Amino acid sequence: MTLPRVLVIAGSDTSGGAGLQRDLTVLDRLGCTHASVVTALTAQNDHCVADMHVPPQKFLGTQLCAALASGPVAAVKIGMLADAPTVRSVAAALEGLGEVPIILDPVLVATSGRTLLDRAGQAELKARLLPLATLVTPNLDECAVLTGKRRASQGLEIEAQARALLEFGSAAVLLKGGHAKGAHSVDLLVRRGEEVRAFSAPRIAGNMRGTGCALASAIAARLAHGDSLERAIESAKHWVHGLISEANEPAPPDPGGA
Ligand code: PLP
Repeated sequence: MTLPRVLVIAGSDTSGGAGLQRDLTVLDRLGCTHASVVTALTAQNDHCVADMHVPPQKFLGTQLCAALASGPVAAVKIGMLADAPTVRSVAAALEGLGEVPIILDPVLVATSGRTLLDRAGQAELKARLLPLATLVTPNLDECAVLTGKRRASQGLEIEAQARALLEFGSAAVLLKGGHAKGAHSVDLLVRRGEEVRAFSAPRIAGNMRGTGCALASAIAARLAHGDSLERAIESAKHWVHGLISEANEPAPPDPGGA
């Protein structure tokens, strides 16, 4: 059986906790092969992003051409984009892709505080990339920044903010409630002319990094396998919940210990 192939466009995370490394692990586990384009090299661990390097635009363009020429892709997952020229190059490369679903995780700031997409890049993302996206997957903070509003805190306000982001032209917005309060983590799917749909999973205490990357990659994987958007989100959310539970299981006893 030929496995579907997903194109990942993302930044490298030296710690392996988030970014490209997280994306590729998820795709492997969900039965997809992958092509990858590196938008930025970060030097980071769980506490800080010490430095980052954005490859020259010409080289980014060459990576995009090579990845797209290396075979058909069944879905595209986009993560960290760093700056405006990177956003423009990615948008130009994806404009002719046709019906292939594009999942855009609008990575703006690392949990440790460093900006991962500058202001000019955010403007370019709204103008050039959101209109190409099948689904954009912001958390509450990212949605607030992109819509120029304060962070939404309750039901109707959250839905209104997701709808405001939809105005930039993506086919759908999945506004993730993982950073909100409550016993469940609830994500809202909004699309033009459709009822809002909520996806819920019990909240797990802990602070695993890269869960946003993992969810967007898992959705891309399920779409690449042929699921509908709703089915892909449902199964990806369930799978990521399992991943976080796994990461929070107590470590097995040290066989060499006392
Ligand atoms: N570094 C890179 C390269 C990323 O792509 C991301 C998120 O997508 C992060 C860091 C941030 O991850 P976290 O917010 O989980 O620290």
